[in-house]
Amino acid sequence: MSVPGFDVAVVGGGLHGLSAALHLARAGRRTVVLERAWVGRHASSATAAGVRTLGRDLAEVPISLEAMEMWHRIEALVGDDCGFHADGQIRVAEFDRHWPDLLEREARMRALGYTHEELIDAAELRRLAPALSPHCVGALVARRDGAADPHRTIVAFRRSCEAAGVTIIEGCGLDAVERQGPDWLLRSGTRRFVASAVVNAGGAWAGRLAALFGDEIELGMKASMMIVTERLAPFIDPVVSVVGRALSFKQSDQGTLVIGGGLQGVADLDRQSSSVDFANLAKGARAAVDLFPLVGDVRIARSWTGIEAKTRDLLPVIGASPNQPGLFHAFGFSGHGFQLVPVVGAILSDLIVEGGTQRQIAGFMPERLMAKRAAA
Ligand SMILES: Cc1cc2nc3c(=O)[nH]c(=O)nc-3n(C[C@H](O)[C@H](O)[C@H](O)COP(=O)(O)OP(=O)(O)OC[C@H]3O[C@@H](n4cnc5c(N)ncnc54)[C@H](O)[C@@H]3O)c2cc1C
Repeated sequence: MSVPGFDVAVVGGGLHGLSAALHLARAGRRTVVLERAWVGRHASSATAAGVRTLGRDLAEVPISLEAMEMWHRIEALVGDDCGFHADGQIRVAEFDRHWPDLLEREARMRALGYTHEELIDAAELRRLAPALSPHCVGALVARRDGAADPHRTIVAFRRSCEAAGVTIIEGCGLDAVERQGPDWLLRSGTRRFVASAVVNAGGAWAGRLAALFGDEIELGMKASMMIVTERLAPFIDPVVSVVGRALSFKQSDQGTLVIGGGLQGVADLDRQSSSVDFANLAKGARAAVDLFPLVGDVRIARSWTGIEAKTRDLLPVIGASPNQPGLFHAFGFSGHGFQLVPVVGAILSDLIVEGGTQRQIAGFMPERLMAKRAAA
């Protein structure tokens, strides 16, 4: 039986895998996505889908700003607006003691020539978020930020991939790999595929995938929790976070409140599942009520967790393997990779098609998380 051959095999059918596949297929590469479960099964559908440049690590700012431009034209990329609304993201200082954090951040960004993070006083904060408790003293705002609909985003990326000729195979987990001349032979049970290049977009399992190829990359894990409430009449447009507390608060198009902020549940990589820690989740609900007193009586409809890889510096791993020609990594987004989806796919395409990229990815090299080899 002949083994299907591709230019590129993308392992992992989350949004990062789909974005890489889309850019590669549009650059003329025969591309297959191998997904162990189904497209969008893990972090990409569990996500809060905040589209945020605000407060990014300085290493991420250049690609995050480019991604933001892409989000503002997302329909041109994937034929759908992905439910993206640019109503801003706000980081609130609740009390005077939180204000210096924001002052310092704004001054640092301005000194570097960035103008997308703006300090606002209590009056402007009230104008942007009238339902916020009056005790809040001010905020940083990124007015072009916003949020999208993760499910629409997955469907849009998937359809665009298929239209561009990407082969998507679900229920196909990569479990073994070997060299076949300059190519890779990939095995999933009895199925086999050959590809010249492989993209590791395996999310929480990306460390295990890297190890299959011989790359040992130090990785941690996150199991972030989310709450969604019953529907309410619209009362807030921007996404709100707050200094010193784990809270991200927004209202969806359907009127539900979507509340997260990085509070952690419990993850089990072997069982590919995660569960809510209700005592911890209650802290998120408490913070939401402190900041927005009018939601005190609102009913919680559902809560969930999503798993993804976390690096020690909270920066992603994006780049070529230093050990294995033809292997490329894109994972470790540490709880904030949704916004980066359109640009990271373009970076993978640069690396594979052009052999390099003009985009600033020096801070994301896999080497920084790999044990140094003993000198021979
Ligand atoms: C609760 C939560 C809230 C978040 N909120 C935000 C936010 O507001 N803003 C933001 O920017 N980011 C946010 N994020 C982060 C963002 O959602 C993720 O960074 C992003 O979705 C990661 O996408 P991915 O494609 O790398 O991973 P995933 O979507 O997890 O995809 C990885 C895929 O690889 C597959 N896979 C694994 N091993 C194998 C194998 N051996 N063979 C084949 N397939 C395999 C898995 O089945 C999975 O489908 C949040 C994440 C969570 C969990």
